[in-house]
Amino acid sequence: QLPIGVLALQGDFREHLHVLQQLGETAVAVKSPEQLEHIAALIIPGGESSVIDKLSRLYGLFEPIRAAIHAGLPVYGTCAGLIMLADTVEDSIEGQQSFGGLDVVVRRNAFGSQTDSFETDLSIPELGENPVHAVFIRAPVVESVGARARALATLDDGRIVAVEQGNLLGTSFHPEITGDTRFHEYFVRRVRATQ
Ligand code: GLN
Repeated sequence: QLPIGVLALQGDFREHLHVLQQLGETAVAVKSPEQLEHIAALIIPGGESSVIDKLSRLYGLFEPIRAAIHAGLPVYGTCAGLIMLADTVEDSIEGQQSFGGLDVVVRRNAFGSQTDSFETDLSIPELGENPVHAVFIRAPVVESVGARARALATLDDGRIVAVEQGNLLGTSFHPEITGDTRFHEYFVRRVRATQ
């Protein structure tokens, strides 16, 4: 069985590696294009999307990741990772690009400086009865979802904070730091089911 990769250029990739290991998965920190050939799926961590964008180009990973997404590699992005997966990014830094693939419009830092971070409980039927405790840190929001994607979770005010589309999954928040492994399990289950 191929390992699950975690893009390890910047951000909280160690937390994702740790969760995967907790689930009994072999996990690998991805830093080079060659490694993309030897993974079953990829997680893009939280961090700073403009930096992940720059570093991925510096490491020769930008085009290979983009191609892998289009070829069907399962990818889960949290926070900055969700931004990297979005087809359209609003409030991006000049020149900032995303890998794309998810048919959504995402707005960076959507909760403003007054509420840099907050926590809330989300009801997500796909993940079971118990609410998911979600931690938002300078989080993006999904402004709109195109025909190919679907919203998985919304805040009480209706704003979309989790989406999926075929092989792709994205959350505005950080399940890798709460100890609730259900999002990772959900992703891994789908990855392993298609092998
Ligand atoms: N604000 C960050 C960005 O634009 C995302 C924050 C996060 O990943 N916690 O990439």
